[in-house]
Amino acid sequence: MARIGFVGLGNMGGPMARNLAKAGHEVRAFDLSAAAMAAATGCTPAASAAEAATGADFVITMLPAGRHVRDAWLGAGGMAAAAAPGAVLIDCSTIDVATAREVATGLPMLDAPVSGGTMGAENATLTFMVGGPDGAFAAAEPILQAMGRSIVHCGESGAGQAAKACNNMLLAISMIGTAEAFVLAEKLGLSHQALFDVASKSSGQCWALTTYCPVPGPVPGSPANRDYAPGFAGALMEKDLGLAQQAAQETGAATPLGAHALELYRRFVAEGGAQTDFSGIIRMLRGAA
Ligand code: NAD
Repeated sequence: MARIGFVGLGNMGGPMARNLAKAGHEVRAFDLSAAAMAAATGCTPAASAAEAATGADFVITMLPAGRHVRDAWLGAGGMAAAAAPGAVLIDCSTIDVATAREVATGLPMLDAPVSGGTMGAENATLTFMVGGPDGAFAAAEPILQAMGRSIVHCGESGAGQAAKACNNMLLAISMIGTAEAFVLAEKLGLSHQALFDVASKSSGQCWALTTYCPVPGPVPGSPANRDYAPGFAGALMEKDLGLAQQAAQETGAATPLGAHALELYRRFVAEGGAQTDFSGIIRMLRGAA
């Protein structure tokens, strides 16, 4: 069993750290919030991020954004300096590719963002998309398996964040497209179920339709059936689309639909959708005509 330092015990990090402790690892955990620390059942509290990192075989961060990750690893009293020379460092936060590469420079570090949401974190069924050196990945894989079901090594440093940005941009675009198809069907007098029955078996088929259908009925478990309670909140989709657009600008990639999706999700959040599931954008699209 490994000694693990874990920093960032929020909605995702809290259950992830608990799952590591449940798997028998010795977890020393730190968060700025006392309430988050108190909820980290099975973990030993640390007095600081650096203390959590000291003497650990693996050091994991699950923080809100790139600036928090840079500060935690490289700032004064940073964890990179406190970690033992052989430790494997793993950042599971969703951050921009450039910061992921900057933080990892010269370190045995993996960027390992996740998908699967808070349910995936609770149930240890997350998908990890991982960037970084082969040796660090091989060492970290069994640790990530205690928190997730699918672990994909995507390439060198930054490749995990790159995969996350590309996937979520595609998801946003396909959700908007799916929602627009239902809005048009409504205007044409075509029932939700009829469109679903046709499109789910023909070339319009996609995950946003068949697993996460933005209208109630055809897919009983989708957030549309519970008044769009998240799920995956609009604020998080806006954040991820912002990261994708930042990457597109930095690399000169043309992503016009990604840019438009960001505009639409910004409006969705500004109009009160921050804590609404991202599939709730169909309600905004209905009103837009
Ligand atoms: P959260 O806001 O619930 O948790 C972040 C935690 O980090 C908080 O408890 C905060 O106190 C702590 N923190 C901030 N700065 C710190 C510091 N310097 N030292 C120690 N602790 C610090 O966020 P979350 O929902 O757990 O998300 C974490 C990351 O995972 C984000 O990058 C998010 O985009 C990503 N993510 C979230 C979800 C989701 O469904 N919530 C899904 C996939 C990915």
